[in-house]
Amino acid sequence: MSIWSINEKELTTKRLSKNVKTDILIIGAGLTGCTTAYFLKKKDICIVDSGKIGHGVTLNTTAKINYFQERIYTKIEKSRGEQLAIKYLESQRYAIAKIKEIVEKEKIKCDFKKVPSFVFANTEKEVPFLEKEIEFLKSQNIKVSKKPLPDKINSYKSYCVEDTYTFNPIKFLEGLFKILEKYDIPIFENTRIYKIEKTKDGYICKSNSRTIEAKKIIFAGHYPYFTMPFFLPLKSTIEKSYIIVSKVQTDKSFTCISSNKPTYSCRFYDDGKNIYQISLGESHDTAFKQNDRYHFERIKDIFGLKDKDIVLKYSNTDIMTPDHMPYIGKIDESLYLACGYNTWGMTNSILAASIISDALLGVPNMFSNTFSPSRFTLAHLAKIPYIIFCQTKSYLGTKLNKNKSWYRGKIRFFKVDGTTYATYKDENGLEHTIKDKCPHLGCSLIFNEQEKTWDCPCHSSRFDIDGKCIKGPSNYDISTNKNGNK
Ligand SMILES: Cc1cc2nc3c(=O)[nH]c(=O)nc-3n(C[C@H](O)[C@H](O)[C@H](O)COP(=O)(O)OP(=O)(O)OC[C@H]3O[C@@H](n4cnc5c(N)ncnc54)[C@H](O)[C@@H]3O)c2cc1C
Repeated sequence: MSIWSINEKELTTKRLSKNVKTDILIIGAGLTGCTTAYFLKKKDICIVDSGKIGHGVTLNTTAKINYFQERIYTKIEKSRGEQLAIKYLESQRYAIAKIKEIVEKEKIKCDFKKVPSFVFANTEKEVPFLEKEIEFLKSQNIKVSKKPLPDKINSYKSYCVEDTYTFNPIKFLEGLFKILEKYDIPIFENTRIYKIEKTKDGYICKSNSRTIEAKKIIFAGHYPYFTMPFFLPLKSTIEKSYIIVSKVQTDKSFTCISSNKPTYSCRFYDDGKNIYQISLGESHDTAFKQNDRYHFERIKDIFGLKDKDIVLKYSNTDIMTPDHMPYIGKIDESLYLACGYNTWGMTNSILAASIISDALLGVPNMFSNTFSPSRFTLAHLAKIPYIIFCQTKSYLGTKLNKNKSWYRGKIRFFKVDGTTYATYKDENGLEHTIKDKCPHLGCSLIFNEQEKTWDCPCHSSRFDIDGKCIKGPSNYDISTNKNGNK
């Protein structure tokens, strides 16, 4: 359950029940997939999603539509040079203009609202770094003003831009869905693609004992289940953040985010019945710190939230890239990919949709070569030891240390014939046993006490207490391994 599912509409979609042939197959009906379909709506396309539309990372986002992104420009400048930092800024402003254009042209009622956005330094040491970021933005003629935060969040210095937005991403997707329906574009929910095979004329995809033949594929599934030819595990880390939604009296109509890690941010949302503050914080690489209870308590302290006002608590993960820029483009002859948004997916998903659709429509796009997924830069090379350390730590750490205090006696690990199992005892005393191994690349799992899920610290797959896969890259439930054995 997230803030965006509170007033969500039930959409009429179906599961894939027969073999299909299409020109373009879009895998993933989140913001990236649905917006790409919108741009390509006059073509022969088909969309599939392993779950429900928008119920991937998009469901748990905070949906700030913003180009003032912590201090990303000085980081890109350092890793890839000034010209690319400028290009990234242009791309984010371009994407914001595109979202605005779609919302206005299609009259999508998604609570799209112009609000000022603040970036603040929450330590004294951070101030000069934030000031460098401001210098960069000013050098690009961005109007940034020094202003105190309009809330009681601890900050040493804060700056503000005015031309940024917020919206409700699920309502935005519902709007796109209606348009796609008019164009007879099929969206198959609960339809997972397990395998993509190359053929003479394109690809054949396997799903639920049915197949989809497509000349071109766009993988908009957040984290690709396949490792080759792209090998994302070596080109990224996973960042997890925690979100608390609380009821408040007034919509203060601003967004803010800290410039340094761990990230803290907040925004407001008025759904017509209630006003909510969406507070986010305690971001960390999934290889470290996994005590959910502790992280939620910290966010409560930082934002001064009271238990009686809290309505929802959840977490979310996104893919972080070594050079802070997304991966968007071709990874095979006619296979496109978009991911690695560094927690700025509102803009980057629309940017990806625009780049990929223009490539398929044969229209020039000024960012067509900027975010190539096959790039491997010095920044990537420099990050490899850290990435390997994170993966090894996640892999071994979960295997070696199973008696974490936050499991509080509710989890029992045991071995049968050399295989480790974990049993979770629910509130009613019912036991739920799973094999303690992620079907993706074999990591052990961590119990997420707040959301009652089993989470993989290596690549962020998620499973329910009975092992059903609710988030990839794993393409399989835990109870059934790749060979179909229990
Ligand atoms: C805590 C947090 C807060 C954030 N806040 C912001 C913010 O304020 N502003 C901002 O710009 N960005 C934010 N982001 C980032 C943003 O939410 C994401 O980058 C964005 O939602 C990703 O959208 P997507 O469509 O690419 O992926 P998803 O929404 O994950 O969609 C992918 C879809 O593909 C489906 N899928 C996956 N594999 C398969 C398969 N094999 N077969 C079929 N279907 C498949 C999934 O079911 C899913 O529905 C935040 C991220 C986090 C973690």
